[in-house]
Amino acid sequence: MNFERSEEQSIMVDTARRVGEAFGLDYWRDLDAKKEYPAAFWQEVCNAGLCGVAVPEEFGGSGLGMTEMAMVVETLCAAGGGSTLSQMFMLNPIFGGITLSKFGTPAMKNELLPALVEGRVNFCMALTEPDAGTNTLAMKTFAREDGAGWRIDGQKIWITAVPQARKMLVVARTKRAEDVERKTDGISMFLIDVERAGLVHRPIEKAGTNTLPSSLVFFENVRVEPEELVGTLHRGWRELLDVLNTERIVTTSGLVGTAELAVKLAVDYAKDRKVFGGPIGAYQSLQFPLGEAFIELECARLMNHKAAALYDQGKPYSSEANMAKWLAGKAAGLATDRAIQTLGGMGYSKEYHVERLWRDARLFRVAPVSEEMILNYVVQHDLGMPRSY
Ligand SMILES: Cc1cc2nc3c(=O)[nH]c(=O)nc-3n(C[C@H](O)[C@H](O)[C@H](O)COP(=O)(O)OP(=O)(O)OC[C@H]3O[C@@H](n4cnc5c(N)ncnc54)[C@H](O)[C@@H]3O)c2cc1C
Repeated sequence: MNFERSEEQSIMVDTARRVGEAFGLDYWRDLDAKKEYPAAFWQEVCNAGLCGVAVPEEFGGSGLGMTEMAMVVETLCAAGGGSTLSQMFMLNPIFGGITLSKFGTPAMKNELLPALVEGRVNFCMALTEPDAGTNTLAMKTFAREDGAGWRIDGQKIWITAVPQARKMLVVARTKRAEDVERKTDGISMFLIDVERAGLVHRPIEKAGTNTLPSSLVFFENVRVEPEELVGTLHRGWRELLDVLNTERIVTTSGLVGTAELAVKLAVDYAKDRKVFGGPIGAYQSLQFPLGEAFIELECARLMNHKAAALYDQGKPYSSEANMAKWLAGKAAGLATDRAIQTLGGMGYSKEYHVERLWRDARLFRVAPVSEEMILNYVVQHDLGMPRSY
């Protein structure tokens, strides 16, 4: 393994640091308070070429891989945005960029990939359903044949940044579960317009990640044109999993960046703050948990880079991507919690930022895949243990 960054990687990381620091902590605190979408930030990410890092060069991207995407997201998140920022990468370069690069039609690629790179189109992704939950294969949203295209009926929940998106990647059954041999059959992906007759969305009130709204989405007889199918009809599940595993890599990068930022804020404060004469940073009770969080975040980063490198080499990477995400969720949880502890009362104030990092990072122990489902995956696939559900 080579731990040196290439020249291209160094340029990407330096650019990400410059963009991230130009916005900084206060920008994110203000937007969080106003529950406002970070449009100016995202445009700058696109202008700097960071959205297109893994988009093929022929469509205006840099043609690099998930390794570089991981480095960019870690750096941007550590510069002030925290984990929520990584969701913007999940939606656009992953659900837009990776899905289209791998499974899009030539027409979709020509129209949408350059627009994605330049920040002219945003994406959202609709998979989760209220009744199915984690058991996504129990989804009920159904696309029935209608001439050359389809009509979708159903409901999705927790869909991120719908009002800001022009395109929605919808995952739906095209064959009923009872009509297929394996539950993974009969599922397809469609890329449709958010603004479309029969598609309605309603906001959900929530605990954090305030800069990106979450919505319930209702589909009633929503028309889908034949050219809006992405990938293989009825066989979209395997293709979707490939995309979802790259989402894990970006999630982990966001958590690693958040943990790094929380530890840094805590260490800086602890060196400065004096209560019984000396700095509170001299107490081991404050030092050791921050040291533990730092060790965990660095291990998560390493495992995530392994997952990204395997992906870039076209090798299996699901276990590594899942394990890295599990560890990063713990690391960010520990780092942000201990940052609050280190800052004492000030940890609970908005002024010092760590409460936002803590609130937002908590989400990623549940989503996009929960810790329990990662453990289920690892014990079955890596340890060969029986399925418990
Ligand atoms: C803010 C936010 C943004 C989101 N953005 C999107 C988005 O853009 N698009 C999208 O499609 N979805 C999105 N999601 C949905 C997210 O992926 C799901 O919430 C998550 O996968 C968990 O599903 P659930 O909420 O239905 O929980 P449930 O399935 O009800 O699970 C509840 C608990 O039970 C546990 N559990 C369930 N089954 C098992 C089992 N077999 N073994 C052990 N434990 C189990 C789970 O791990 C969890 O702890 C988002 C969610 C949130 C909160």
